[in-house]
Amino acid sequence: MMSAVPASEAPLGTLAAPEPEVRPDLWPSTTGRGADGALQIGGRSVGEILADAPTPVFVLDEADLRGRAATWAAAMAEEFWPGYGMNGGEAYYAGKAFLTTRVARTVLSEGLGIDTASAGELAVGVAALAEVDGEAATAHATRLGLHGNGKTCAEIRTALAHRVGHLVLDSAEEIDLAAAAVRELRESGHYAPDETGSVMLRLTTGIHAGGHEFISTAHEDQKFGISVATGAALDAARAVVTAPELTLHGLHSHIGSQIFDLAGFREAVGVVLRLRHQIAEATGVLCQEVDLGGGYGIAYTGADPVAPSPAEVARALAEAVRSLCAELGDAVPHVSVEPGRSIAGPSMVTLYTVTGLKRVELGEGAARLYVSVDGGMSDNIRPALYDAAYTALVANRRPDPEAGLVRARVVGKHCESGDVVVRDVDLPADLAVGDVLAVPATGAYGRSMASNYNLFTRPGVAWVEAGRQGWVLRPETIADLLALEGD
Ligand SMILES: *Cc1c(COP(=O)(O)O)cnc(C)c1O
Repeated sequence: MMSAVPASEAPLGTLAAPEPEVRPDLWPSTTGRGADGALQIGGRSVGEILADAPTPVFVLDEADLRGRAATWAAAMAEEFWPGYGMNGGEAYYAGKAFLTTRVARTVLSEGLGIDTASAGELAVGVAALAEVDGEAATAHATRLGLHGNGKTCAEIRTALAHRVGHLVLDSAEEIDLAAAAVRELRESGHYAPDETGSVMLRLTTGIHAGGHEFISTAHEDQKFGISVATGAALDAARAVVTAPELTLHGLHSHIGSQIFDLAGFREAVGVVLRLRHQIAEATGVLCQEVDLGGGYGIAYTGADPVAPSPAEVARALAEAVRSLCAELGDAVPHVSVEPGRSIAGPSMVTLYTVTGLKRVELGEGAARLYVSVDGGMSDNIRPALYDAAYTALVANRRPDPEAGLVRARVVGKHCESGDVVVRDVDLPADLAVGDVLAVPATGAYGRSMASNYNLFTRPGVAWVEAGRQGWVLRPETIADLLALEGD
């Protein structure tokens, strides 16, 4: 049975989720259909996964996560290899995408660093570093970073106490806080009397990118970074260089998110390296490191293109850095990047159970099937927050090609009409209550942005690998919620 769709919408059939063999980039790398027709991930069928984990549940393909981390580490090491005239490159995983100690251990073991943006993320990074590199490594945590605007004194002091490799200061106030924290660390004997705190500066480059375009403006109206265009960044660099407590290690730029077009990054390289040159002329200090941030796009639906690979990204950045350094006559810096989404995003899917079906007639024979599932905006806020598009595939059985398709909207069970999981998707017309839907690419900014709205318990994250399964995060219980209550 086919239902017509409104004339203004894409033709029926064009919004069906691609099967894993059609668009492997959309799914964790071990995803496929088993002999029973159900999806399987990590050597476990959806039925086996759900026997040990109630829906809604995030399923993390551990081999996929490791592979993505290793691919980024290798791409940066290769394209910035000193044998090619470069000065080394590395990737820091942006932990805000999804961070637990297990995830942090995995990415550290594959050679990545970890960027954090709060005391909590930093504590997880430190705990994982102790497990992977030994307790002593936490006193010289060069593989960790701390970001964010409006960092507290305590956060800056903790980062400096661990001597993180990337302490990225976001304002003149933070420069003062860092200098004060170094004085305290010297006085308490944690630092040697002449030891300095190594810091980077977050620049506002005037470049915004996202999706397939970038824009370049001289001035920016946003909260992050220190403006290059107004001269504030050069002033901040002077302040760091002249502060006896601080060393200016590098410059940082992060231009946006979900970026497919590498032109914005090339533009940012230009702004950052020209400022680096100016800082050297003004202060005599040529920064050792340039951090070009994250934002590398991924496909969420079959309508998205396949994203550039880490090797393509690293090569484009290396070419831009090499040619601009040659033009400026400057030594090539060490270069880092901070992918978050492109590592965690495709490595997870969310499984939901269909709890209800409501067919809404739209006139002129067109209809939309509203599919309720047992989760929603509390486990994925991105559709409501950013109008983000997702897709969904029937996961517990192979869809019957004879059944036809219906234009569907997958919705959650929260008290908000904006509580949408997948705005537009073509699903089998014989979809039934009890079917399981798999939504791909939910690993980044899914569980990490989850809430307890409507006093939902936040879903668990199950890892699967080679037929085995366990919890990355166990599902919250109502007892967990009640345990937080005061009198
Ligand atoms: C969010 C963020 C990232 C990661 O962005 P993705 O889009 O997940 O790659 C990297 N660096 C900074 C400073 C960020 O704020």
